[in-house]
Amino acid sequence: MNYSLKCLNCGTIYDPKDVMYTCPKCGPRLGTLEIVIGEYPRYPSFDLKSKGIWAFSEFLPLDEDHHEVPLFIGNTPIYEKKSLAQKMGLSDLWIKDDGRNPTGSYKDRATAMAISKAKSLHVNTIYCASTGNAASSLAGLTAASGMKSIIFVPKTAPEAKITQLLVYGATVMAVDGTYDEAFDLSMEIGNEFGWYSRNSAINPYLLEGKKTGSMEVAVQLDFKIPDFAIVSVGDGTVVSSIYKGFKDMKMAGLTDKIPKVIGVQSEGANAVMRTFESGHFDRPIDIDAHSMADSIAVGKPRDVLKACKWVKESGGYFVSVTDEEIGKAIIELARETGVFGEPAGAAAYAGLKKIAKSIQGKSAVIFITGNGLKDVKSARNFTSQVNYVKPDPKDVKDVLRKIGLI
Ligand SMILES: *Cc1c(COP(=O)(O)O)cnc(C)c1O
Ligand SMILES: [Zn+2]
Repeated sequence: MNYSLKCLNCGTIYDPKDVMYTCPKCGPRLGTLEIVIGEYPRYPSFDLKSKGIWAFSEFLPLDEDHHEVPLFIGNTPIYEKKSLAQKMGLSDLWIKDDGRNPTGSYKDRATAMAISKAKSLHVNTIYCASTGNAASSLAGLTAASGMKSIIFVPKTAPEAKITQLLVYGATVMAVDGTYDEAFDLSMEIGNEFGWYSRNSAINPYLLEGKKTGSMEVAVQLDFKIPDFAIVSVGDGTVVSSIYKGFKDMKMAGLTDKIPKVIGVQSEGANAVMRTFESGHFDRPIDIDAHSMADSIAVGKPRDVLKACKWVKESGGYFVSVTDEEIGKAIIELARETGVFGEPAGAAAYAGLKKIAKSIQGKSAVIFITGNGLKDVKSARNFTSQVNYVKPDPKDVKDVLRKIGLI
């Protein structure tokens, strides 16, 4: 694909050969780059079933010697939930279960692009700072590709995510600090040693991988686009990518609209929402982030400019939800649909519940970005208790009677 890089802040266009990560004039925070497609494919076809995300190759900035991670990524299921939609007053509702990717989150879509680029550059070590999922994704996909990964996570990351890193053989630095501190530390070390960066927003190719999520929805829904697309927001890359995927589909003449994109943040980590509502997208408002939804516990979002600009362009907005609402959403989503999301995944459902009254009669797709098994401890705080019984039928019947099941 023929493409260039455009600075979101100052508008300068770069040749991909000249710039690797961000706009040299605007710096790493505001100078995030957008991949601008030179020419849209005329008659694309999408073989999701056998290719996964690579069904969108013609829309991706791949090099001639492009490397495909030998794991199946994408083509995750989408479920239509008519009766749940009805209950909420919506005309239709779809659940996109991206926890079904190889390492259990949406991040695999982006990591595949980072690996492709690193291979082209003949760099064998990739690093990232992550709240957890970008890290487990990088660890898993580099392992499959015979590469090395160096990973910086806050030491508070959920155990399943840290275990995933170690199982895949990553070198793990559990930073005694926040994600935001881990991020700055990783950049300093990664730059010094010339490793390839899989850091959100810094690397413009990640978003291109992520946009396959919404392109997939378009194909799966036979190019009939819902009114709203709802997803949780930390750094702001995923929400931006959802917009870009739908936009690329429209630009290629395959669809006729872009949904209003709704970004859902945790109340204790709503930095992107605050910046959006201030109206000054180039003056990010940073905060101290706290949230049970570790994947979106970001106080210094790296893709804030893009997220604000593109959500606004879509006609969407941001909402925030409490940890309590997220916890309840994990349980309700699982019981209504059978999809078990991690806190940041179920946050999209919590966001939908919050705005449902104001979008009556409309259709929506929500992206469940991470698998619930990644953080069972948080979910457990919102479940009912286990019934402990002796190996005796009488004991079992006593319990069943007590809870009114017999
Ligand atoms: C990373 C992540 C997000 C948010 O993505 P950003 O690009 O940081 O906004 C949401 N949900 C899950 C499960 C994630 O891992
Ligand atoms: Zn710039």
